[in-house]
Amino acid sequence: DSVIKLLSSIGEKPKKAESSKEGPLKIYELIRGIEKEQFEIFYQPKINCSDRTIYGVEALSRLNHPRLGLVFPDQFIDAMERTSLINELTRYILEKSLEHWKHWHRHGYLLNLAINISPKELNNLDFPEYVLGLLKKKSIPPEFLTLEITETALDLDHADSLEVLDRLSMHGIQLSIDDFGTGHSSLERLRIFPFDELKVDKSFMLHARENDSDRAIVESSVMLAKRLGLKVVFEGIENSDLYNMSDHLGGDIIQGYYMSRPIPEQDLLKWIENWIKKNS
Ligand code: C2E
Ligand code: CA
Ligand code: CA
Ligand code: CA
Repeated sequence: DSVIKLLSSIGEKPKKAESSKEGPLKIYELIRGIEKEQFEIFYQPKINCSDRTIYGVEALSRLNHPRLGLVFPDQFIDAMERTSLINELTRYILEKSLEHWKHWHRHGYLLNLAINISPKELNNLDFPEYVLGLLKKKSIPPEFLTLEITETALDLDHADSLEVLDRLSMHGIQLSIDDFGTGHSSLERLRIFPFDELKVDKSFMLHARENDSDRAIVESSVMLAKRLGLKVVFEGIENSDLYNMSDHLGGDIIQGYYMSRPIPEQDLLKWIENWIKKNS
């Protein structure tokens, strides 16, 4: 346990950026952030439940603001989604993280790379060709890329989003439904869209041990996912209790502060080496 605690201290500190006090950033700060490449990618490991090997990493954006320091996504994603800036951020994150993937590959690691995708991308019928073109240019097999889409972001009536997801899926890109259980029509979304992975929302996981209804939601989500042939990810694994019970609850992959906070790119390989050493 203490080793894991030590490892997880490599990542970012729990303290949120000061900007939380000041409210969301201004649009011009976000435009400047894109122009001056102030966005940084932190990676949080996704661990295979059964043998504690590393399945992959999720890319999480932070803005390194000249005055405020590290700013978290809750201060900029909404504002960016109201403009086309979110498309520029997605492209920046995709290109940068695929470069990182190649770097990890050169060091002998084949990781699944998960990126968070805004619903806005799903209205753009050119998005699949863009992503596939990028993978081809960088010679990365599509199977190593997962696109995480927040459940509530998926518009059930939108024919375009279905077509975009179908095309991505057809070419082997993995699709993950994020924050599962938080929206209404969860089940209908699962029926319509071609998902490969289901992430049980961390709000259910956090109290799954002591709260019967939260555990019931986790257990039925797992059952449903298994019946539909989806991988199950538990996020929000914050302590040893959750870590130890996740296998029993039927999780395939776990993610959370207990294993690691999101880590700056330059520290990731060091974390991976340590993790492998401690778990082999
Ligand atoms: P998400 O995709 O559900 O990501 C998980 C969030 O939970 C992350 O917050 C992560 O740091 C945090 N987390 C990880 N482990 C734990 C844990 O054990 N306990 C708790 N309480 N939290 C944990 P973060 O990085 O602040 O991101 C917040 C949200 O912002 C993400 O939620 C995602 O929806 C969005 N986001 C982040 N980066 C991007 C991006 O590049 N593009 C888009 N469109 N959205 C992004
Ligand atoms: Ca996510
Ligand atoms: Ca698929
Ligand atoms: Ca989530």
